[in-house]
Amino acid sequence: MFSDTHFHLAYLAEQGVDLPQVFRQLAERNCAFALDIGTKCDDLPHRLTLAERIIQEAGDAKNRAALMLHFSAGIWPGVDAIQDRAAQTAALKSHVSAELSQVCAVGECGLDHHWNPGGADGRNENDFDAQIIRGEAELFETQLELARAFEFPVIVHSRDAFDGTFSCIKNLSYDNGVIHCFSYGIDEARAFLERGWYISFSGGITYTKKSRLEDMKKLLAFVPKDRLLLETDAPYLSPVPFRGAMNTPVLVEQVYRFASDLLQIDAETLSDLVDRNADKLFCQFFDKKNAD
Ligand SMILES: [Zn+2]
Repeated sequence: MFSDTHFHLAYLAEQGVDLPQVFRQLAERNCAFALDIGTKCDDLPHRLTLAERIIQEAGDAKNRAALMLHFSAGIWPGVDAIQDRAAQTAALKSHVSAELSQVCAVGECGLDHHWNPGGADGRNENDFDAQIIRGEAELFETQLELARAFEFPVIVHSRDAFDGTFSCIKNLSYDNGVIHCFSYGIDEARAFLERGWYISFSGGITYTKKSRLEDMKKLLAFVPKDRLLLETDAPYLSPVPFRGAMNTPVLVEQVYRFASDLLQIDAETLSDLVDRNADKLFCQFFDKKNAD
């Protein structure tokens, strides 16, 4: 129960989280699916080695951990990656090709225009001149093309950049994937949904102010039940009541509980729905390919 469709194992390891213990806890509650997300063109080999070690150290949960754990590979739109995009997308392509039986999605990739120079990602509007903005779109579009070539779904990161994200998607006309950590409103959700995209909500939804709860409820209810995913984005965005503490995939349960309260369905039913959606989006093609 309580699949987590988006987290970063390597960053959790850097924070010193006891990951074998995390996977023992996930196995205990029968978690069906857990997706480790890539952010750099060459992080896949390291992440696969890390996962192998975690699985080996998970004791009785070893087999379950190996079954639930899946991997994506993609390039997050940092300024360095944007500037170096030709070399980096070539590197990404070769890493994915080398580990094709291990990867089930491309991403996270996309556009981020959330300016916060003092924040962890240090995004500064001054760094994003017209040339970088164009390069960012190109970096995203190249990854959409790569996903199409491999027939993989895409995990899209889009923050304060709906128009740009949507126009890249329209340009490429490859509508297969999820808008992760969704932070827009109903109109934007409708636009993505109409093109066939899934929508994923993170622990960020648990921060909703009381005055905005009704809107959040409408937004959640607006997303069709067969297009909804939930995630932690761990180690970021710890859900309430763990805000400020280390986030791990175990805490995705709080995201399910919060969403199920607003949707007025029980958390178990919601968990089944998300499992089915994650399976359809990330596993069906992947399993078929690996069975061939
Ligand atoms: Zn992420």
